[in-house]
Parts: sequence; structure tokens; C-alpha cells
Amino acid sequence: MIKESVLNTNEASQIFHIEAGDYFIATIKSGSYFRIVDLEGNQAADTLFYNANKPSERYSATDTIREQGNVYLTAGSELRTNENNVMITIEADTCGRHDTLGGACATESNTIRYDLEKRCMHACRDSWMLAIAENPEYGLSKRDISHNINFFMNVPVTEEGGLTFEDGISGAGKYVEMKAQMDIVILISNCPQLNNPCNGYNPTPINLLVLEA
Ligand SMILES: [Zn+2]
Repeated sequence: MIKESVLNTNEASQIFHIEAGDYFIATIKSGSYFRIVDLEGNQAADTLFYNANKPSERYSATDTIREQGNVYLTAGSELRTNENNVMITIEADTCGRHDTLGGACATESNTIRYDLEKRCMHACRDSWMLAIAENPEYGLSKRDISHNINFFMNVPVTEEGGLTFEDGISGAGKYVEMKAQMDIVILISNCPQLNNPCNGYNPTPINLLVLEA
């Protein structure tokens, strides 16, 4: 569902620029709004969320999908944790649909899907692992790398029940805006994938704006 934001981005307290292939990790306070902007279009932002005060409570695709009865995420979606609490609400969305079924790219899946020689290519899972290794203060470990959201990524479910990675429906400047309903940690891998059309074969940067409560 396309829904424009009512917020004034001039009031953003922080703007982070995340290059293609980089990770980003930060804490966002309950009640704050945050916006992810697809600067050039057709980028995939592979994102994990945690309860900042209890990292074992984290975003759950299964709880979110079950409760909303819809596999796609957009304005109006409530992002739920593995304890079935609402951690984030999507308040505005100019892209219209985001994936939470496709998972993140990994060297293993690159090898299976594309070619053995793709094994050494940079993948989202590696970016997350680097993020938690370089930022131990968040208390995250390998076991916490779980379900994720692929903001701006187009992964339609076929009539036969299959999944396909399709050319994006996002475009330059499209954004998704959310409100933290608890203190959260956001961990993004700005996807470096070059083998499927989720990035238009050309990974590009994103911005993250935070409007504090
Ligand atoms: Zn990726």
C-alpha cells in the first residue's frame, strides 16, 4: 500500500549514508521514527531487528506473517517478535511492498544458486557476521542471525506457491518509514548481491534517517 509520510525530514536528528555492501548497526529508541531511503532504486536492504534490552527477542517473519495474514510487508504492517510482541510499525511506504520470505544472500546460497566460483563473493550474511564481530557491545552472536526483512526487494509468490527473485518495483528516492514500538537494535546489510536482479545487478547506497521521539 502506497502511503506518504506526514513527517518533516528536516527534523531528522540523524542521517546515515550506507554504501552498497556495507553494514549498519545502531540502537533506536522506542517512539522514534526511522526511514530507509532507496537512493537510486532497485536496492535490497537486508535488515534484522532486536529488542535492545533483550537481544534474544528479535524480529520474527513467522509471527508477523501469521498475525497479519499477508506475506508482504507495507504501510500498516506490524513487525512482531518471536515472543509475538509488536516491535515496529510501518507508518509510510512509497515502494508498496517488501519481502520477508526470501532470506539473505550467503556464500553457501550463492554457490548453490549460481556457481561454485561465486563462493568467495561478498554476501549479506558475511556483512552481518562482521557487524556483530566488530560491535560486541550489542551482545549479538551467530545464533542471533535469523529471519530478516528485505526492504525494497521484489520476491513475488507464484500461483504454484513458489518464490522468484524479480526485478525491483522500487525506484530512486522511494522510502519506507517505521516507528519503533520498543527500544530496538537495527542491523542492516546493504546487499552486495551481483547474481540476481534484486539490486538491478548494480548495488547502490541507501540512507537511514532517524527522527527521535
Ligand atoms: Zn544480500
